[in-house]
Amino acid sequence: MARVSLTNVTKRYDDVVAVDDMNLDIKDGEFVCFVGPSGCGKSTTMETIAGLTKPTEGTIRIGETDVTKLPPKDRGVSMVFQNIALFPHMDVYENISFGLRLRKYDQDEIDRRVDNASDIVQLEGMLDREPNELSGGQQQRVAIARAIVRNPDVFLMDEPLANLDAKLRVHMRTELQRLHKQLDTTIIYVTHDQAEAMTMSDRIAVLNAGELQQIDPPLVCYNEPANRFVAGFIGSPSMNFADGELVDGGVTTDHFDLKSDMTELDLPVGDRVTTGVRPEDIYLTRNDDSVEHPSEVIEARTDVLEPMGDEIFVYLSLDGSSGSSMTSGEASGASNQLLMSVDPDTDIGEDESVSVVLDRSKIHLFDAESGDALAHGIVDLSEATRTMAEAESGEQ
Ligand code: ADP
Repeated sequence: MARVSLTNVTKRYDDVVAVDDMNLDIKDGEFVCFVGPSGCGKSTTMETIAGLTKPTEGTIRIGETDVTKLPPKDRGVSMVFQNIALFPHMDVYENISFGLRLRKYDQDEIDRRVDNASDIVQLEGMLDREPNELSGGQQQRVAIARAIVRNPDVFLMDEPLANLDAKLRVHMRTELQRLHKQLDTTIIYVTHDQAEAMTMSDRIAVLNAGELQQIDPPLVCYNEPANRFVAGFIGSPSMNFADGELVDGGVTTDHFDLKSDMTELDLPVGDRVTTGVRPEDIYLTRNDDSVEHPSEVIEARTDVLEPMGDEIFVYLSLDGSSGSSMTSGEASGASNQLLMSVDPDTDIGEDESVSVVLDRSKIHLFDAESGDALAHGIVDLSEATRTMAEAESGEQ
């Protein structure tokens, strides 16, 4: 197990900046997920750590060693890819032990390591099977066992579950968490699936366009996103956003006003801001839910309902709309909409007039231009901004 650090790592392919001045410090034994949309540089970052790609600039350390110029085999890393690529004519034992046999390990040592690894991934009794006699999940476990037998300091996993069906993927997530506990080793895991990242990681590194946006524990990314991109990417369905403007004593948007003392933001009246609120932080007033810090009431009409079993997603059309500034990430492009989630037993129909409130303690404010977070919660803005300022100074 080892710490992994990237200092000012950049990777350019001609005009494309795949990784842009990345600084990361992954602790010993940590499970970190790289998450972000396709093409944001997750795999390239991982490949620079593995040694499969040479960074254009910057330094990579594994443990105390500068590995930037070392070949992959000398870095103490094992990789597991999306494409499992087992040797079809070798049985499970031969597949798992292939690398060790190539390196001419002692037969007893090979047997001991294969036994141990197959025990960890629960493949006992299957060592003489060929890959075509295994399910997708079992094949992926062979690939993981093949990585385990090398006793790596760091596991690098690039979308290892992407080819499995949904149910198996959820099951394998739990297995990977168990594996991490058992091996107590550093794992860096690439995924475009934010749910996968939320459930497995100690910390999530959110990437966009080659740049690191935030690296924090999952719930910090969820509750205190560093910017609008992270706020929209983490969480499903996505956060609702509304563009607005700072006014004396609050924020005004096309569809609603939020009164609050904004003086602590120290921004001029007239500055453009984006407000954000998650679907679960919006409440029907008639449900009489106890919202400790309700916003002003917003009048709306229910549009489409999506019953999910454990909750209902309700698309609201906002009244008094003069433009289309309210969109949720997943409904982007849909005008004047606000997506809320309600209890499954809520008596609600389509095309009904409703009044809703937002939980003020869960309203986020972002700078409309840079997207940087200005406040999380506008109950007591002085408190919220102080906390953020403290967090920032603590990081440096
Ligand atoms: P992700 O893993 O997040 O989907 P990648 O790291 O694969 O993203 O790619 C990041 C960017 O770098 C993309 O724009 C991609 O097209 C580009 N890229 C990746 N590999 C190469 C390559 N070998 N040659 C040229 N461009 C590449």
